[in-house]
Amino acid sequence: MTTYIGDGPDVSGFFGSFGGCYMPEVLMPALQALQQAWDNLRHQPEFWDEYKRILTDYVGRPSPLFFAKNLTAYAGGAKIYLKREDLNHTGAHKINNCVGQILLAKHMGKTRIIAETGAGQHGVATATVCALFKMQCTIYMGETDIRRQQMNVDRMQLLGAEVKSVSEGRGTLKDAMNEALRDWINHADDTYYLLGTGAGPHPYPTIVREFQKIIGIEAKTQILQHENRLPDALVACVGGGSNALGLMHPFLPDLDVHMYCVEAGGKGLQHDQHAASISKGKVGVLHGNMTYLLQDPDGQIIEGHSISAGLDYPGVGPEHCLLAESGRINYVAATDDEAVQAFQILTRQEGIIPALESSHAVAHALKLAKTMQPEQIIIVNISGRGDKDLSTVKAYLAGAAQ
Ligand SMILES: *Cc1c(COP(=O)(O)O)cnc(C)c1O
Repeated sequence: MTTYIGDGPDVSGFFGSFGGCYMPEVLMPALQALQQAWDNLRHQPEFWDEYKRILTDYVGRPSPLFFAKNLTAYAGGAKIYLKREDLNHTGAHKINNCVGQILLAKHMGKTRIIAETGAGQHGVATATVCALFKMQCTIYMGETDIRRQQMNVDRMQLLGAEVKSVSEGRGTLKDAMNEALRDWINHADDTYYLLGTGAGPHPYPTIVREFQKIIGIEAKTQILQHENRLPDALVACVGGGSNALGLMHPFLPDLDVHMYCVEAGGKGLQHDQHAASISKGKVGVLHGNMTYLLQDPDGQIIEGHSISAGLDYPGVGPEHCLLAESGRINYVAATDDEAVQAFQILTRQEGIIPALESSHAVAHALKLAKTMQPEQIIIVNISGRGDKDLSTVKAYLAGAAQ
């Protein structure tokens, strides 16, 4: 198979055999309207000017590319640079996509936004752009996640969003996404569904990728300024896959740049307690696209486990499936233990508290750096900041000490 370098999807929304649009008939008109609006707007320079203006003046882009000197010395090998998405307004990369999609919603004449959220980061970013654009906002969140992430629920409500608790299933991201889709079916006229990661039915995986690509476009310019050459490796964590694709997509044609996507290894890949959809999943359909899914032997979807709520989605974006199949990106895993360790190491070494999701990427970067030469370069995506995870880490460490 030839190496896939990011030129998908095909006209039907397939990345190889992955992706597509497996949705109920009633949603097809809404998805076609979205596709049309997107096809139209993506070719308008004024649309991108508006997107970039908000990213600059409101989100605070470009995010810095920081040479982590102490972390480099600690790992003892390649130079480690950090792409600081944690410094964005609202504290993660999610806002890049929300800014783009709310502009799309506005141009489509929609007045109401719905979204799903797991850890609450996408919900907060969505509620934020809804406040900015004066749109009505409803966020679906699983009951279990609401309990785990009360602070983000409070933030969303303060921002004016209605948070709807979802008690179906295990009350996590998958169930919240089902409810959001159900809402969309009933209100497609005035409602825009603002999907938070590179999964879901076509054209969402492409739309989200295009709005997150700013991460990699900036990183490429910045590393050329710092080092006058491209990096040897890129590392990012993967939940649905949007921050990883955002960083990596602009580098896909640069075949000397090696890439590592880090899935949530949970308690270890030998048990069921993980969320490594690509490493351990099987092909199936969830939320409108063909992808790798965590399934039991009967084909029932199993809930993922990860210490980080943002990584425990049982599927992954379809473009990642093709990138894995074609060998362009390596898919690895970091366990809960390794992530918590990396969380502490980066905090102590550089004074940067990363999100637990991003800590998975840091954990792999530390292993990788040791195997490389001092003149080689790694860029790690710090997808978000870790304030939201302090109590989780504290409880984990207290448990581990017993
Ligand atoms: C949501 C989230 C992720 C996982 O989502 P992707 O779509 O895989 O990027 C990773 N890091 C942070 C900080 C998040 O909030």
